Amino acid sequence: MAEQLNVDVGSEVESMCTKCKLVTVHVVSAIKNDKITKVMCKSCLSSHRYRPVDAETKAEITKKAKERKLVAQKAARKRAATSAARKWENLLSKVQDEEQEQDPTEYSIQQTYETNQIINHAKFGKGVVVKIIDDKKVDIVFEDGVRTMAQNY
Ligand SMILES: [Zn+2]
Repeated sequence: MAEQLNVDVGSEVESMCTKCKLVTVHVVSAIKNDKITKVMCKSCLSSHRYRPVDAETKAEITKKAKERKLVAQKAARKRAATSAARKWENLLSKVQDEEQEQDPTEYSIQQTYETNQIINHAKFGKGVVVKIIDDKKVDIVFEDGVRTMAQNY
């Protein structure tokens, strides 16, 4: 049984794109013997042979794309954490070099801080005061990143 083709050149169809490695919307650019022969990907604008997708393939591709995205997100989070930790380490050793050895002050919101002061926070660990925002707030770099902390309360 011949498949009824209800698309024309210029119609939009879903096709596998080898460049995008995804199922994307394509514009039909050639039809031969009632069959789509050439399509153009609307995402990357590359022209190629029509690769029809069945529901199963589509689900599989979507699943793989999702997995790739998750892996990428995880790697990005890890990179961010590593770079924050490195920054903290460098800062800590730099401050200790410049300001000579100082015993970390236990963090308390009642205290007033100054830049380059090393503090110790019960939960976040060692930190370096990097910025006095105003008389009530300071930015402190901890191993996992910068936190705005209260002071002088
Ligand atoms: Zn594409």
